[in-house]
Amino acid sequence: HARLTAGDRLDEDVNDAALRPQTLADFTGQPALRENLQVFVQAARDRGDAMDHVLLFGPPGLGKTTLAQIVSRELGVGFRATSGPVLQRAGDLAAILTNLQPRDVLFVDEIHRLQPAIEETLYPAMEDFQLDLIIGEGPAARTVRIDLPPFTLVGATTRAGLLATPLRDRFGIPLRLQFYSPEELQLIVSRGANKLGFVLTEDGAREIATRSRGTPRIAGRLLRRVRDFAAVAGKPADRKLCDDALKRLEVDSLGLDAMDRRYLRRLAEHHGGGPVGVETLAAALAESRDTLEEVIEPFLIQEGLILRTQRGRVLGMPGWRHLGMTPPRNAVA
Ligand code: ADP
Repeated sequence: HARLTAGDRLDEDVNDAALRPQTLADFTGQPALRENLQVFVQAARDRGDAMDHVLLFGPPGLGKTTLAQIVSRELGVGFRATSGPVLQRAGDLAAILTNLQPRDVLFVDEIHRLQPAIEETLYPAMEDFQLDLIIGEGPAARTVRIDLPPFTLVGATTRAGLLATPLRDRFGIPLRLQFYSPEELQLIVSRGANKLGFVLTEDGAREIATRSRGTPRIAGRLLRRVRDFAAVAGKPADRKLCDDALKRLEVDSLGLDAMDRRYLRRLAEHHGGGPVGVETLAAALAESRDTLEEVIEPFLIQEGLILRTQRGRVLGMPGWRHLGMTPPRNAVA
């Protein structure tokens, strides 16, 4: 299912490349993370060593892939990318690792979805730059140890907690990405309009920014839609045009779409605001639990629209307000 306002990748996002910042200086937002990375990159460059392994975690669309590319560019080394679900056999990983140049960056997206056997192969590779390959089968099988060039693994995952502890512990530099502020997104959107070569007014940019769920990928997507509306209308994209376009796309004032509103309404109307278990909600909304937890809920939680409690999901006061409903007197939150 393709949702305009979900942070996960859609086919149309191949166009994202045009909007991707190329350097750390050009990367807006995440100030603390950016400062840290700057230091680690500089130190590795000065020493002429491979940089320590980096774990980037945070909801989809916040810039993990972009940062991995930037790191390799700032280090002046090569960039290889793969992902947890793509690597099916230990041999797939071995082929990639043995082809790396010294100090290269290897980006592994969705690293929490690695097969256990491949994860095991990764441990000595990350720790000692060695690869244990099993040659042959049955009683004749033997292990050969291969030296790898030193490299930097950049792993990306939506939540650090999804990773097995031994894997998580092997990343020297764990970095958490936060949702972007409306001001940061406004800057990103304004720059994006420049790159795409169309006129977006300041209040137009603010309108898109406040409705992008704190997520640059969504901001870029809405920006491209607004550009189409502006082109067809033959007008600059001002606040009114942006508002009209986003309304027609069913993106509301907070950036929620029909699915988010269904989630909130389900909680309000069927469960009196909760608490209700995530599995129950997932079944009622015909979504997977993973999609709820990784794509839909993080922003709703960040905005206080819902709360994650021991006993399940609860609708928060801002959630009731957003629905234009009054909470029952026995509501939990
Ligand atoms: P993730 O890997 O976390 O899912 P990406 O790195 O693919 O996210 O980012 C999604 C898109 O959002 C990128 O193509 C890029 O255009 C944009 N983007 C992400 N972070 C920023 C940023 N800080 N400034 C500008 N654009 C960004």
